[in-house]
Amino acid sequence: MIIVLKPGSDQKDIDYISEKLEKMGLKVHLSKGEERTIIGAIGDERILREPSLAAYPAVEKVLPILKPFKLASREFKQENTVISVGDVTIGGDEIAVMAGPCSVENMDGLLSVARAVAESGGAFLRGGAFKPRSSPYAFQGLGKEGLEYLAAAREETGLLVITELMDPRDLDLVCKYADIIQIGARNMSNFSLLKEVGKINKPVLLKRGLSATIKELLMSAEYILDEGNKDVILCERGVRTFETYTRNTLDLSAIPVVKSMSHLPIIVDPSHAVGRADLVPSMALAAVAAGADGLLIEVHHNPEEAFCDGPQSLRINEFTGI
Ligand code: PEP
Ligand code: MN
Repeated sequence: MIIVLKPGSDQKDIDYISEKLEKMGLKVHLSKGEERTIIGAIGDERILREPSLAAYPAVEKVLPILKPFKLASREFKQENTVISVGDVTIGGDEIAVMAGPCSVENMDGLLSVARAVAESGGAFLRGGAFKPRSSPYAFQGLGKEGLEYLAAAREETGLLVITELMDPRDLDLVCKYADIIQIGARNMSNFSLLKEVGKINKPVLLKRGLSATIKELLMSAEYILDEGNKDVILCERGVRTFETYTRNTLDLSAIPVVKSMSHLPIIVDPSHAVGRADLVPSMALAAVAAGADGLLIEVHHNPEEAFCDGPQSLRINEFTGI
């Protein structure tokens, strides 16, 4: 349910109503727009039907949020969420470019990619230190050593670091090194992990699950928002279909669909979507044309030798040429 306050309502009104709601056992979330403050009350549907709230003088109207996701909805927050990381913004006018190897392998390779990303105007270096591999025998990532390489590359290039967290036991470690925490497609429905990253004070990039609907993606974002972390970036990275010429099928329509229903920023990962380097540039451009707030692109200094996802990784000159 949302409680829309009258224009000109002050902090005293907000506190008064929030306290009442909390006493009713509801969780209170504030959305302060330029003109109005909206109080989101989340909890037991029966309490939410309480009619007396509309009688408070500062209240303009009380409305149900009809969508299953509440805090992620445009009903709760009309303005786009703009997330600041360092001096970069995501969800505003800039296109946030995040690029780097699938996994961090060694310092020299990572640095050569990082330098190219920084020189061509990218803002973030991506690279997995903990890799979600389909086979337990495949390279699992360098762990802490990989995080240290990412931090060293940040130090040299000024790029911000985005890297994946797979296990809540690594939360403190990954938070120590990362500027954005990535939750991978395979963990989109790991609700206990989502709750943990909901409690931190760092932006979270939430990737769409392999076969997840847009509604399920937004419900997963809701888990993070409900714990108090408002800085959630969604990521479309393709979904599984019957098509075999591409690794997944890039759902470009997810961008305007998300934008119509949610205030959260959405970026696109064309690399995992198509699984083929030759298709990445056109899909990256298409994503931006469709309204994406950023791109997550795999780039490797020598794709033939990459420990994972070589076929979909751009060479450095291919990346700088886009
Ligand atoms: C990745 O970006 O490193 C990754 C593993 O992607 P996804 O979770 O989308 O498969
Ligand atoms: Mn990859």
